Amino acid sequence: MCATGSSPRRRSNPSGWPTSTSTSWPAAAVKFGSVEEVVLRLKELLFPSIANVAVLSVDVNIAIVRVDVQCTTAGAACPECGAWSTRVHSSYLRLPADVPSAGRRVVLQLRVRRFRCPTTLCPRRTLVEQISGLTRRHGQRTERLRSTLAALGLALAGRAGARLAAVLGVSVSRSTVLRLVNALPEPEVPAPRVVGVDEYAIRKGRHYGTALVDVETRRPIDLLPDRKASSLAAWLARRPDVEVVCRDRAPFFAEGAAAGARSRPRTGGISGTT
Ligand SMILES: [Zn+2]
Repeated sequence: MCATGSSPRRRSNPSGWPTSTSTSWPAAAVKFGSVEEVVLRLKELLFPSIANVAVLSVDVNIAIVRVDVQCTTAGAACPECGAWSTRVHSSYLRLPADVPSAGRRVVLQLRVRRFRCPTTLCPRRTLVEQISGLTRRHGQRTERLRSTLAALGLALAGRAGARLAAVLGVSVSRSTVLRLVNALPEPEVPAPRVVGVDEYAIRKGRHYGTALVDVETRRPIDLLPDRKASSLAAWLARRPDVEVVCRDRAPFFAEGAAAGARSRPRTGGISGTT
C-alpha cells in the first residue's frame, strides 16, 4: 500500500510489494526508506482531506487492515463552553470501522485523549478529542463510512443497502442503514412560489387532511392534519413567498387561500387557480 512512496532503487523486492500475508509497515519501511517518509505518504494516501491526524503504522493481513492513528493537536475545545484545554485526564483506544480497502475491512486504532475542561463552572468536567471529518462522539464508524452507508440507504433502502454493503466488505444491518439515512440533515428546500392544495384521506369518509405541493418542483411540502380554511390560511400567512395557489372548487380551500392573502397585505396578495 505504501510502497508507492519509495523509489525503485531502494526496493529489495522488484514488485515493491511485500510477499508475506501480514506486514507491519514501519518495519517494512526500513527496506524502502525512512519511517517518516513512509508514514507521511501513508497519511496522504489514507486521509488526504483530513487535517490533524497522523498515521503511526499500518498492519495488513489477509482479511483486515489495521491503521494506527492519532490526533496531532495539542488539545481540544470543550463542546459545552468552547474553552481550549491541554490538560490530559486519560486516554483510551477507539476502533471505528472505516471504508474497505481492496476488499479488506479497515479498522482504525485510534488512541484518543480525554481532557479536563478548564472552566470551573462548566457542567462538562471532561471532554474527549474528536478528529474533524473523521470521527464523532460515540461513533462506531468513520464519517466517510457513515456517508457511504447513508448513500447506499438513500439509493436502495435498508435491506438492499445492507446487502450491497456486504458485497463491498462492510457488515451492517438494514436497521443501521435506515438509521444513518434518518440521521442525515434535512436538505435545504427553496421557498415555494406556486402551491397546489388538495385533500387527502386519513380515514376515508371520516377524516381528511390537506396536502400541499410545490407545483414548480413537483415535490410535496407539507401535510396539514385537517382541511379547515383557518389551517390553510395560517400556513399561507407563514410563507410570504407564495404567489399562486392552485386548488379545486372546495369552499374551505377557496376561503383559506383568500384569508391567507388578506393576512399579509404588505407582501402582496395570492393569485388563485382552480
Ligand atoms: Zn467546558
